[in-house]
Amino acid sequence: MGSESLTYLLIGVLIFGFLVPKILEYLQVSMPLQQVPPILAEYLNEAKLLESKAYQKDNFKFKGITSSFTFLLTLIFITQGWFGEIDIWIGGFGFSPLVSSLLFFGLVFVVSDILSLPFDYYSTFVIEEKYGFNKTTLRTFFSDKLKAYLLSLLVGGGLLLVFLWLIHSMGPNFWWQFWMVAVLFMVVVNVGYTAWILPFFNTLTPLAEGEVRDKLLQYAAKVNFPVKHIFVMDGSRRSAKANAFFSGFGKQKKVVLYDTLLEQHPPEELVAVLAHEIGHYKKKHLKWGMLVSVLEVGLLLFLLGQVVFSENMSLALGGTSLSIPLNIIGFTMLFVPLSMVLGIGMNWMSRMHEFEADHYAKETFGGKPLAEALKTISVKSLSAIHLHPWYVFVNYSHPPLLQRLERLEN
Ligand SMILES: [Zn+2]
Repeated sequence: MGSESLTYLLIGVLIFGFLVPKILEYLQVSMPLQQVPPILAEYLNEAKLLESKAYQKDNFKFKGITSSFTFLLTLIFITQGWFGEIDIWIGGFGFSPLVSSLLFFGLVFVVSDILSLPFDYYSTFVIEEKYGFNKTTLRTFFSDKLKAYLLSLLVGGGLLLVFLWLIHSMGPNFWWQFWMVAVLFMVVVNVGYTAWILPFFNTLTPLAEGEVRDKLLQYAAKVNFPVKHIFVMDGSRRSAKANAFFSGFGKQKKVVLYDTLLEQHPPEELVAVLAHEIGHYKKKHLKWGMLVSVLEVGLLLFLLGQVVFSENMSLALGGTSLSIPLNIIGFTMLFVPLSMVLGIGMNWMSRMHEFEADHYAKETFGGKPLAEALKTISVKSLSAIHLHPWYVFVNYSHPPLLQRLERLEN
């Protein structure tokens, strides 16, 4: 493909990636307002339903502004050839190609992060604040930013260095070599997430002895799932929203419950939530999820290999000769539609897994307490109750609440 046609293709893909989510959000937000479903009568009233609709509208409006901003900026960069100009400017310093590539991405990262800062601030301190979710202080907000910078510099910078080095020195073989590195990295992060990364941002304390702990361990023993580590995470430091998750493989597996979850639910419901999480483990969902991600990264790298040495892509973005960083930028744009399709597949798998984990909890503990827990969690976090099926199909990694309740309570 010639460089001019490639420029048009990039613009087309950019418009596509901007419009499709907007259309889905429009379908969702223009769903007619409905009655409170009888199954939620004890938890929800008309006013709460309106509030959840308003919360969703505010979020969509905000997303509309941020994505329009990014869209326009990218469009200007492509049509004006600014990516190419930056690349030529950096090349003028006379560093080696590898160092120049690193500088290019370092600059892109810093600039895009600075530009997104006011948006992050608004989302946390205006929207989340308005609906009573925000528990973050300015101090925590900025120290989180600093820590995230440090982590990206050390971990992201290290990975980027290996990645660029392989491209620059191994040529077309880089893709499977970096794939190996990426897989190793994913396994290490998965095993070490709660031990190494989480403590940067949160405090994990072992769940205190008492009724809750006894009941959780009793259930775990019954289903032959030896949990050694149940942790409580201080999620309330940032948000009032509650959650629970599970990480690691083999002996390293850990269950993490948010303190907000512990406060809001009786022991029965907490056991049901644990039962759901154990269901994910027993049904091998974590391994499936990992396998699919590994394959996706492999595909992504293979396809990148088809583009990364193309001179026309560099020219399409305003460069004057073959440039690895420009081609990587071009590839990330071209990958958007495929990534949407893959995301739909991943979400579909994830929704099936959620049903299976719910079913496991129902069989081994009971559907009722899990249903009650889900109602509380959804209503408290103002999750949308009435959903457009297309919006769910594309975006939802969890099935809508009403579908889950139907299966749990029958
Ligand atoms: Zn789940």
